[in-house]
Amino acid sequence: MSNDYYETLGVGRNASDDEIKGAFRKLARQYHPDVNKEPTAEEKFKEINEAYGVLSDADKRARYDRFGKAGLGGAGGFHDYTSDFGDIFEDLFRGFGFSTGGGRSRRSPRRGRDLQMQISLTFEESVFGVEKEIEFQREETCSHCNGNGAEPGTSLVKCTTCNGQGEVRTVRQTFLGQMVQSSTCPTCNGRGETISSPCKTCRGSGLERKKVKKVVQIPAGVDAGTQIRLSGEGGPGENGGPNGSVYLILDVKPHKFFKRRENDILLNLDINVAQAVLGAEIEVPTIDGEEKLKIPAGTQSGKVFHLRNKGVPYVRRSGRGDQLVLVNVAIPSKLTKEQRELFEKLAESLGTTVKPQEKGFLDWLNEALGG
Ligand SMILES: [Zn+2]
Ligand SMILES: [Zn+2]
Repeated sequence: MSNDYYETLGVGRNASDDEIKGAFRKLARQYHPDVNKEPTAEEKFKEINEAYGVLSDADKRARYDRFGKAGLGGAGGFHDYTSDFGDIFEDLFRGFGFSTGGGRSRRSPRRGRDLQMQISLTFEESVFGVEKEIEFQREETCSHCNGNGAEPGTSLVKCTTCNGQGEVRTVRQTFLGQMVQSSTCPTCNGRGETISSPCKTCRGSGLERKKVKKVVQIPAGVDAGTQIRLSGEGGPGENGGPNGSVYLILDVKPHKFFKRRENDILLNLDINVAQAVLGAEIEVPTIDGEEKLKIPAGTQSGKVFHLRNKGVPYVRRSGRGDQLVLVNVAIPSKLTKEQRELFEKLAESLGTTVKPQEKGFLDWLNEALGG
C-alpha cells in the first residue's frame, strides 16, 4: 500500500473534490470489511479512509500538499468521520442491498400464501371433465377491522419504539468512528403505528380464517398428478402484493376394466376359442358405452384392436386417443361332457393325436430362453 494519500485513492494531485469522493466511494465499496472477506481488506480500508479523511478536508489537504504527513501533526490518522460520511455510508449500504434509512424496504409488497389441496376423481370424471364444488379454508383480510388490526372506533397510535419511523437505528462503534445501522422496528413491524385496542375478531392480526366454497371446472382429459391453479384464490397479499394461488392436485381412482396409457384406454378382453377360430361380432365396454367389435376368423391371442377416438380427450387440443382392446383367447379348463366330445371330434378331424406335446416342457423352456 502506498504511503501517499493520492496514490492510495488512485487520483492525481489536482483531483477535484468530486473526483476524490468518487474514488473513495469506489474503493470503500470494494474493501469494506462487511463485504470483502480478505484478511488484508480491513487494513486497506483503514488506509483508504485515512487518505480520504485528509484529502476531503481542504485545510488538511493544503497542509499535506505542502508538508506531507508531518504537516498534519499526527492528526492525519483517525478522526470522527461520522458527520460528513453519513451520506456516503448510506449510499454504500444501499448499493450492497442492506436496509438503511429512507424506509425503502419496509412495507414492500408481498405475495400471499399458496394453498394446495387434493381432489379425487373417478376415471370417468377424469376422461370427460366434471364440475366440482370444493371447500377450503384460507386467511382473508379481517372484515371487522379491514385488516389494520385495530378495533373499529379506536385509533392507531404512533409507535413509541421507533417514533413512527418504522425502523430503528443502532449506532455501532467501529474503527471508522460511529456507524449507523437501520433495521425494521420490531415493535410495529415497520408500520410506524401500533394498535391501542386490538380488533376483537382477529385479535390484531388483521386476518380472518374463512371457509371458502368454489365451483371448479375440471377439464376433460386430466390425469392423476395434473395440477390446476386457481390464481388469486390463496392467502391475501401484503402491502398491495397479489394474493397467492390455490393448487388443486388431481388424483384418479382406478377403473374396474380400463387402464390409461397416455391418451389411450386399454382393455383386456377374453374371447373363447370358438370366437377366435370362427370370428364373431361382440360388444365391448368403452368409456362411452357398449361398442360393437368385429373379431375376424382366426384371431390369435395377443391381437390388439383399435377403437378409434374412444380414448381420453387431449387437454390442450381437440381429438381423443383410442381404446385398445387386447384379446386373450381363453382356453376352457372345465368342459361339459358334450364339449369334451366335441373337442375330441375336433382333434380327430385335425388329425392330431391327443397326448402330451412331443417336446418336453424343459425343451420348450430352453428354446424360449434361447439356450
Ligand atoms: Zn380484525
Ligand atoms: Zn415502531
